[in-house]
Amino acid sequence: SQRVVIIGAGVVGANLADELVSRGWNNITVVEQGPLSMPGGSTSHAPGLVFQTNPSKTMTLLAKYTVEKLQSLEKDGQNCFNQLGGLEVATTPERLEEIKRKHGYAQSWGIEAHLVSPEECLKKYPLLNKDLVLGGLHIPSDGLALAARATQILIEKTRNAGVRYLEHTVVTGIEQADGHVTGVTTNNDSIPADIIVSCAGFWGVEIGAMIGLKVPLLPLGHQYAKTTAVPGLKNREVNKKINAMNAEYPILRHQDQDLYYREHGEQYGIGYYGHRPMPISAASLGVTPKHVDEKNMPSRLEFTPEDFEPAWKATKELLPALRETEVVDGFNGIFSFTPDGGSVVGQAPNLDNFWVAEAVWVTHSAGVARAVAETLTDGRSSIDMAECELTRFEEVQLSPEYVSETSQQNFVEIYDIIHPLAPKENPRNLRVSPFYARQQEQGAFFLEVGGWERPHWYEANAELVKTLPAEWRPVDRDAWSSKFYSPIAAAEAWKTRNAVAMYDMTTFHRFEISGPGAVHLLQRLTTSDVSKQPGAITHTLLVNTHGGILSDIFVSRLESDSFQVGANTATDLAYLAREARRQDTHTPGQWAQVRDITGSTCCLGLWGPRAGDVIRTISSDDFSNAGLPYMGVKKTSIVGIPVTMFRKSFVGEYGWEIQTTPEYGQRLWDALWQSGKPHGLIAAGRAAFNGLRIEKGIRASGSDMNSEHNPWEAGVTYAIQMDKKADYVGKAALEKLSMKAVSRRLRCLTVDDGRSMVLGKEPVFVDGQRAGYVTSAAFGYTVRKPVAYAWLPSSVNEGQSVEMEYFGKKIKATVTRDPLHDPQERRLRG
Ligand code: FAD
Repeated sequence: SQRVVIIGAGVVGANLADELVSRGWNNITVVEQGPLSMPGGSTSHAPGLVFQTNPSKTMTLLAKYTVEKLQSLEKDGQNCFNQLGGLEVATTPERLEEIKRKHGYAQSWGIEAHLVSPEECLKKYPLLNKDLVLGGLHIPSDGLALAARATQILIEKTRNAGVRYLEHTVVTGIEQADGHVTGVTTNNDSIPADIIVSCAGFWGVEIGAMIGLKVPLLPLGHQYAKTTAVPGLKNREVNKKINAMNAEYPILRHQDQDLYYREHGEQYGIGYYGHRPMPISAASLGVTPKHVDEKNMPSRLEFTPEDFEPAWKATKELLPALRETEVVDGFNGIFSFTPDGGSVVGQAPNLDNFWVAEAVWVTHSAGVARAVAETLTDGRSSIDMAECELTRFEEVQLSPEYVSETSQQNFVEIYDIIHPLAPKENPRNLRVSPFYARQQEQGAFFLEVGGWERPHWYEANAELVKTLPAEWRPVDRDAWSSKFYSPIAAAEAWKTRNAVAMYDMTTFHRFEISGPGAVHLLQRLTTSDVSKQPGAITHTLLVNTHGGILSDIFVSRLESDSFQVGANTATDLAYLAREARRQDTHTPGQWAQVRDITGSTCCLGLWGPRAGDVIRTISSDDFSNAGLPYMGVKKTSIVGIPVTMFRKSFVGEYGWEIQTTPEYGQRLWDALWQSGKPHGLIAAGRAAFNGLRIEKGIRASGSDMNSEHNPWEAGVTYAIQMDKKADYVGKAALEKLSMKAVSRRLRCLTVDDGRSMVLGKEPVFVDGQRAGYVTSAAFGYTVRKPVAYAWLPSSVNEGQSVEMEYFGKKIKATVTRDPLHDPQERRLRG
């Protein structure tokens, strides 16, 4: 089989070797700079607490698999996981609410979890100060991983299966030819390779640099300390057992003070995230010593007791028994942080067959390793990995400055209560559209996405709220769903449905695909026939070889060898660009080029029943259904400005996306504004947009559907063309799928009381049993109730009653046929 080189024998590298071996790979070399028995990376000292529950379904499922795997790794009658359970305590009313929300995530992702009273917390954890604890979240399947031991067992197991391990061997370069890897250079010699996977942990930046790849992670110091023996814990039965993890209480989190705890026999281990961020560069750590022990490992820096003082104070309050102990063994251990807290996993966009699996916690290690092994073997991972994708970042988010600032912020906020819409505080104003000054004049409230400032509503529209017809008036919301929201959105939605509104669409990804092979490339990658005449827009899908949805895209044919693609993510760009590089090998001479034109263009969505009136006064071109039909595109001009008009809409109304280049942006805004005012034009933001999108039934790629779902399940079969002649990625798989084989479906739910909001990721119950989870939600202004999309078993029917759980409260909803708004598309088609 193909020759694989894995860089790094930490918990990730060793797990990857094992996952590959179990899939039949038999030519694997693991290269490790340190001694194999203790390489000195983060794994060598990880205390190994595994709290599985996370707002991200992906991260939770990766953790769940890691627990299963560690339990299966046995030696001398003992496995590598001590399932003590996990307890997170709340000491503030806000945290008490937060753990209810977290309890919801656990249920959504299928993890058993219990909200427990202060008394129950004490029963499970007698050392707690009963005056401090208001309640807790208990997860019975959490526990302690013995990461270093698991790594050693995996090394032994895979070595017996033929994996070659080279210790004291430093990778110093990556060899490549024709855009793909050919081997690694080490301090000793070269090792040929067809596939390289860097599992170098916080050294990932240095390895990436060898191929000009920016790996967005930052190594940070994190304090961990042990106490002297806790008097009450001495001579316990558990200490005498041959239990390498000798502990008996659940692993404990005290997030209000940025702390976590585990037992080490009669001693206590304390981890702290409340100190100042301590960034370092792996390159500054020098060469890993020939002999590594507890004290001299490169990932272990000198303890700074002054940083630990608040932790020690808070600890003695939470666990009074520790007042009789002292801190004896502390260190500042290094591991990786990233701009959004996710791992970085995937193939390098600039070099084929160079893979990365870094910024991975012990908690997710086996899960990530399995995902990479599945992808290498089978072309896809059973758990959607978009949230961990190496290529998910925008170019500006890869700059060292951005990575440093946001990763440090991530460290600081790691245990904070974060609203799903909360923007980064810094850096802001990285990317603004040319409409920015006008938006500010209108009192735009901006949130941040991909470095862009994106208006969510405009304070200038506040007056309109008072004039709304009774049935359009916004309903009151609870405090959590009111954050980063304004009732002004109701007025903006009303204007869109009844007059006309203007939306800044600049932040959406736009790519230009050109060259003689452009049509071949898009035919080969999409589920529809895009070889239509210039002037046509096709809404289509990118799917993997198993028919799982990668993205939904709009392909506009501008000229015979020039297309514009409206896409969702930077990962879409990396995928299209990689396939374009390979295009020549599929159809010789038919090269294609992919260019990201997001920042070199700008775009306004002009939508609403009066959109036509606005355009007619400023352009003499024909924008009637005859002049530019629905899903048509043409280049023309408005008040002398060259524009491209796309006749489509995300909000389900008549109108266009009007695109031009940034130097004309402000003039375009002003021209539309002037001409639109008499017709009631307003500027509208993302809050209204989202409500209108949801009631029009438009799925959001990534949150509503991903690579785990096929088009039948997700309800997007309109974006595949079953009679498409040309072969394409996923065609064979899609041909085998049908509605009959569907066991779950993305369903539209409407909230029965017409007012209770959910925000997404809440669990859904059918007949009192947990049956699925919410993907996205918003208030449906036109249908006058909150609307949610949720994954549910296909046995659940339209009209059936379900319940969603929000902060521990059940909200009744009804499964409803969608789209709720304009199902016949009369308004959309005009
Ligand atoms: P590593 O273990 O660092 O392995 C990478 C390996 O690559 C190293 O052995 C290194 O020598 C090798 N390498 C690097 N460059 C080269 C090269 N050029 N050539 C050859 N080899 C190279 N996680 C949890 O889930 N739960 C916890 O409770 C927890 N607590 C933690 C507490 C502390 C104090 C710290 C520091 C981390 C903690 N973590 C925890 C995080 C966890 O330890 C790491 O995320 C994890 O161990 C990373 O594993 P890895 O295999 O990716 O990296």
